[in-house]
Amino acid sequence: MIQSKGYAAQSPETDLAPWTFNRRAVGPRDVQFDILYCGVCHSDLHQIKNDWFPGIFPMVPGHEIVGRVVKIGDQVTKFKVGDLAGTGCMVDSCQVCENCKQDLEQYCLDGNTQTYNGMDRDGSMPTYGGYSDTIIVREEFVLHVSDKLDLAAVAPLLCAGITTYSPLRHWKVGKGHKLAVLGLGGLGHMGVKFGAAFGAEVTVLSTSPSKKEAAKELGAHNFVVTSGAEQLEAVKGSFDFILDTVSAPHDFNLYLSLLRTNGTMICVGVPPEPAQVAAFSLLGGRKSLAGSGIGGIAETQEMLDFCAENNIVSDIELIDIKDVTSAYKRMEKGDVRYRFVIDMATL
Ligand code: NAP
Ligand code: ZN
Repeated sequence: MIQSKGYAAQSPETDLAPWTFNRRAVGPRDVQFDILYCGVCHSDLHQIKNDWFPGIFPMVPGHEIVGRVVKIGDQVTKFKVGDLAGTGCMVDSCQVCENCKQDLEQYCLDGNTQTYNGMDRDGSMPTYGGYSDTIIVREEFVLHVSDKLDLAAVAPLLCAGITTYSPLRHWKVGKGHKLAVLGLGGLGHMGVKFGAAFGAEVTVLSTSPSKKEAAKELGAHNFVVTSGAEQLEAVKGSFDFILDTVSAPHDFNLYLSLLRTNGTMICVGVPPEPAQVAAFSLLGGRKSLAGSGIGGIAETQEMLDFCAENNIVSDIELIDIKDVTSAYKRMEKGDVRYRFVIDMATL
């Protein structure tokens, strides 16, 4: 066993606080890396609050993890001590089902192993995430990270990056498409950057008028405040795709009305409650409502390499780990520009 320290929620009712715990020893195919930075995803907050399902407590959140390799198992071939490394939302999968064989480990038919709030595949111990000093991950689920980019700003690529990159690639969003990004937070701002990089005309749909200037700087061509009925009316029936990153309950029917004929609304945000969708919202205009979860390991590496080549990182606010609860409070209010990242040196 390896002793690790981090920040954990002891229950859904308590704030994160320092906690010491055990991780598994480094196995023959494992990579251990010391964590330098970890992004703060809204999923962390959903999970410590039991928004989706009962969690495993104590819970150490964090799945946007970057650091430096300190130990490798004797069968590891992809990494050596001293390399930069990253891990996202999953740390294992069955590796043999049809989805795993097609590089879609996130859709492993046996269930992927989440980086935290899950159990190791042999059922022996819970997984603990990146709000901590060190992590042990099987080699296949460790990513190579470029040393050319600001490492703290790379961390959010491991979840917010791949979660927006993957659907835009899957639906081949690019030149000639009008893409709306709904919600300008951690995921949304990466959706804007990728959408613009792929050549789409990008519109941000936001509840926060104060984000207008920043949206343009991120690469958006247009900005629409969703509370303004007139502004929304003006973009009715106009988008080929809507990438919905909103974390709270919202009116799907309203946003489906903004799609043009044959348009697709892609849900990546996961509000705590199910949405009501009227069949009429879809059949008039043959519209599609779709979803997408993170991305596979090969695609995550492809995304990281694309970012290194194109100088794309997340816009971040670096925080001290003791300020994580106040960061959550700001994130809940939509006050995030555009990702909090914990400097693990403050642990
Ligand atoms: P975030 O940084 O908090 O951003 C969410 C944004 O949604 C806010 O900044 C805000 O943008 C908008 N918003 C919040 N409340 C709203 C409301 N009541 N009505 C309308 N808009 C609202 O969160 P995030 O980390 O990007 O995560 C977003 C969601 O994606 C979360 O539910 C998270 O769990 C989920 N997620 C899914 C995956 C996946 O694999 N599919 C992966 C990671 C995260 P404006 O101020 O611009 O309105
Ligand atoms: Zn996430």
